[in-house]
Amino acid sequence: AKSDGKDRYVVYTTSSLENMMEEYRLEADLRGALEKREFTLHYQPQINNTTGEVIGVEALIRWNHPELGLLSPDRFISLAEKNGLITQIGEWVIEEACIQNKKWQDAGGKPVKVSVNMSTQQFLTKNTISLVKNVLERTGLAPEHLVLEITEYMALEYDSSFLVLDELRASGVGISIDDFGTGYSSINYLKQFRIDYIKIDKSFVREILHDPNDAIIVNAIISLAHNLNMQVIAEGVETSEQLDFLIRQNCDVTQGFFFSKPLTAEEIEKSYIRPQAN
Ligand code: C2E
Ligand code: CA
Ligand code: CA
Ligand code: CA
Repeated sequence: AKSDGKDRYVVYTTSSLENMMEEYRLEADLRGALEKREFTLHYQPQINNTTGEVIGVEALIRWNHPELGLLSPDRFISLAEKNGLITQIGEWVIEEACIQNKKWQDAGGKPVKVSVNMSTQQFLTKNTISLVKNVLERTGLAPEHLVLEITEYMALEYDSSFLVLDELRASGVGISIDDFGTGYSSINYLKQFRIDYIKIDKSFVREILHDPNDAIIVNAIISLAHNLNMQVIAEGVETSEQLDFLIRQNCDVTQGFFFSKPLTAEEIEKSYIRPQAN
């Protein structure tokens, strides 16, 4: 405990102090991480429930920290959002994902869409549209092979979202609503925005067989999406029972540990994109 000089005491537990120190250190290290090329993308396959074929991969960032090892995004994305670095990191992610997918396509791999997570901050910068168009032009990736994952919050909170999403879609890029059902409860925007995919959050999938309410919600999301001409991707699918349930409900696409955890570019190419070339 330390005195703040006004007869009050601020108590830090060891662990919260450690957390603060670590955050401080990570934030300092984060500033150099892009230049030092310490970020890497892992890819998780998305499987079409009807054909069993891979139709897409979600790009998920990792930070190869020189001392702490491979860090998951939960350790640093919110920090990057706080200090503004997320804009540059996000640009790197889009470019890297497009370059990688273009390489796979050029090498005769299965045509897959690569999905990229957009942070709110990044989405709101005025140049999102030109950034995406420039990256597609530079890398030569067909717009149909890129999907941007945004959250309900981004779609709803800002008046200009409508225009941005519309223009992106007009250019051929796919739009996906991530973590659907966990944030805003208003679903009115679904009819205004032309969205391609809804991703059912893994918190619903987890209890799908045990909590009747979750099953009802998932069922309703799927009907709603289909009536609005959207496809449904279930994330966090870990068991064959969950998969069977989702298939019975006509869910279109599955992503989760049941098929595969996120893999390095080399691993996913070998197992999913060019399995014949082993
Ligand atoms: P998300 O977009 O909801 O991504 C899905 C997360 O669930 C990933 O965690 C993935 O590894 C994990 N996951 C996949 N299948 C399963 C499963 O069957 N069971 C369980 N329990 N989890 C599963 P990850 O890679 O740690 O990413 C966490 C979050 O970090 C992401 O959640 C996303 O919001 C954010 N993120 C990841 N990459 C990026 C990025 O490039 N940019 C931004 N802005 N955010 C990112
Ligand atoms: Ca996502
Ligand atoms: Ca999620
Ligand atoms: Ca998320």
